[in-house]
Amino acid sequence: MATPLTADQFISVLKNAGVRVVEHGSWRTHNRNHKGTWGPIHGVMVHHTGPYSTEAGMVELCRTGYTSLPGPLCHGVIDRSGTVHLVGYGRANHAGSGDRDVLNAVIAEETLPPDNEANADGNPHFYGFECINTGVGQRWPEAQLEAMHKVSAALCRAHGWTARSVIAHKEWQPGKPDPAGIAMADFRTAVAKLLGARPPSGSTLEKDKPVYAQFPGSEFFRTGRRSALITAMGKRLVAEGCGKYTKGPGPRWTDADRRSYAAWQRKLGYRGDDANGLPGQTSWTMLRVPKS
Ligand SMILES: [Zn+2]
Repeated sequence: MATPLTADQFISVLKNAGVRVVEHGSWRTHNRNHKGTWGPIHGVMVHHTGPYSTEAGMVELCRTGYTSLPGPLCHGVIDRSGTVHLVGYGRANHAGSGDRDVLNAVIAEETLPPDNEANADGNPHFYGFECINTGVGQRWPEAQLEAMHKVSAALCRAHGWTARSVIAHKEWQPGKPDPAGIAMADFRTAVAKLLGARPPSGSTLEKDKPVYAQFPGSEFFRTGRRSALITAMGKRLVAEGCGKYTKGPGPRWTDADRRSYAAWQRKLGYRGDDANGLPGQTSWTMLRVPKS
């Protein structure tokens, strides 16, 4: 069980995954939240779009939807070159009704049972990616598959999930064929491989592949704590434009660290108590503090 990322976190996770991201319209606030819940989030779902005339037209269709199924029809459309088009964020009409046993297996990260019932609403619980493919024997370009693997792995990493949290629409809703031509066991193996490699392979930001420091737990950050990790964190906060230091950053946890970290949390879209300056797992992972 997890709180969905904010839109700012979502785009930052995808960009850090090393994929090209294009924003469409007011995607951050384009959603179906007025029709039902969004979250808790449990996984990532991949789809194929079906027949299309132009890729741009398909991206727009996924953004606006149609009369009987209003958009957004997913969060990101992954085109055949591997570019991720953000068309909406929040509740989206992509998963529809599926099998509650499948949802429970995703939550527990266990082997999926067959999807033979449609008794649970998947739209609150999955990030959704429509991948442009006719679904009738069209081959999947390497670049597109690679982007699909990367965004799946990046979202799993942001939430601390394994590759078992990534499923296909065809594993969720009885009768759905998508994404056709993709063996999900292989797909999850590829995602697991990316998750095993730290940091995300192909990251555009970190070409020299540094190793990031694990989150030490919120308890770690208390007055009097002295650690090289706190200096490393402070330097990253300054690099992100969140530094509130008059001197330092240094190894001792101070109020300036707390104020700086709070600025980072606000930058990620957290508000109120969630931006209290005390590091949490998600914001820490996104800060990418080098191991010291
Ligand atoms: Zn689908």
